[in-house]
Amino acid sequence: MIRDPEHEKMPRKDLEQLQLERLQAKVRVVYEKVPFYRQAFKEKGVTPDDIQTLSDLTKLPFTSKLDFRDNYPFGLMAVPHDQVVRIHSSSGTTGKPIIAPYTQGDIDTWSEIMARTLAAGGATKDDVIQNAYGYGLFTGGLGFHYGAERLGASVIPTSGGNTKRQILLLQDLETTVITCTPSYALILDETAKDMGIDLRDTKLRLGFMGAEPWSEQMRGDIEERLGILAINIYGLTEIIGPGVSVECPYKCGMHIAEDHFLVEVINPETGEQLPYGEEGELVITTLTKEAQPVIRFRTKDIVSLNPEPCDCGRTLVRMSRVTGRSDDMLIVRGVNVFPSQIESVLLAIEGVEPHYMIVVDRQHVFKSDELEIWVEVSEEVFSDEMLKMENLEQRLREEMDSVLGISAHIKLVEPKTIARTEGKAKRVVDRSEL
Ligand code: AMP
Ligand code: ZN
Repeated sequence: MIRDPEHEKMPRKDLEQLQLERLQAKVRVVYEKVPFYRQAFKEKGVTPDDIQTLSDLTKLPFTSKLDFRDNYPFGLMAVPHDQVVRIHSSSGTTGKPIIAPYTQGDIDTWSEIMARTLAAGGATKDDVIQNAYGYGLFTGGLGFHYGAERLGASVIPTSGGNTKRQILLLQDLETTVITCTPSYALILDETAKDMGIDLRDTKLRLGFMGAEPWSEQMRGDIEERLGILAINIYGLTEIIGPGVSVECPYKCGMHIAEDHFLVEVINPETGEQLPYGEEGELVITTLTKEAQPVIRFRTKDIVSLNPEPCDCGRTLVRMSRVTGRSDDMLIVRGVNVFPSQIESVLLAIEGVEPHYMIVVDRQHVFKSDELEIWVEVSEEVFSDEMLKMENLEQRLREEMDSVLGISAHIKLVEPKTIARTEGKAKRVVDRSEL
């Protein structure tokens, strides 16, 4: 269903006019309120008056995850603190998390975008929506929660985990829509089977899945096992959380909420804008965000855009699946992991060398992703007694846990056993490649 035909079916010419007006207003706000942007604009020799058409967007500077880190926690905010009603967060590249503040206006906009997202995939007010995205700092849980309520559906805020209880509730409360990561959908299926339950026999009919990369094959598998239509959704903390884009039931790309987000695809090497259809890095400018508007955010996600009208009637541009990243971020069990975070832990601990290998195991369909970190120990530690090695291993496990936010298996290996390369180090391997 199209919840907001005025915007979702807007003739592109009108949409572009709306985008331009909103862009001009936002650019003025950040220039006046956020010293970081004023400085960045200055360095590019551009002022808000230079934005006369949408193509003037390329005159503006990019923003990156590093800018979030450098301006941690509130340096990118455009409103006084007393206007902030909520703060979410996600992992950054090293140590410092990404901070995402919202005004009441932002929460209202986001709720409406999420209601629209759910409606786009085919959910209605008559649905029972079980929300298995994590509640808490992660944007997924509360984002879907507010959207489901706004839609008028019944929402069951199970959050992630406690899988047996999820299955029980899913069955007894007659859940029709599940919202979770694709990997959790597989865990749900496996647990249900262990309990002697076939999810295809339940009322479940629809799923909204994203927050991590997944393939068309994985979708087919999930749809078959759960007996549902599985809709791809995309979003990120820096921009708003979930709600940036969503598929319609034709499943031919995710429609971007372009009345709120202005998108470009660039060549990640040169920063040059690429024409529609070409694959490159997605760059997003927020058009309506109040607390923390973002100009030309480099998502590092590799996608292509398709502006052709869709059979569903929406005029909103569609983005492809995310086919990769232009940086080395991994998503393990829904959590962003950067090799640089692992490196920073290793460099702070005595007795280990900064040679390491990250092994990700995604081969087991029936198990969630496993993260294993191979760490080379120094000669001294290696020749020492067992107990020291065990203590070191435990310390590494604890440190990684607290820095990464997920548990990892630590495997200590002999000095000089991790392959050295002269070119780019290959530090991340998939178990299947070993
Ligand atoms: P976070 O801000 O922690 O929610 O992480 C956002 C990142 O998750 C994005 O930049 C993408 O790399 C990834 N992501 C979110 N949704 C999807 C999706 N549907 N497919 C692939 N990757 C996704
Ligand atoms: Zn469509």
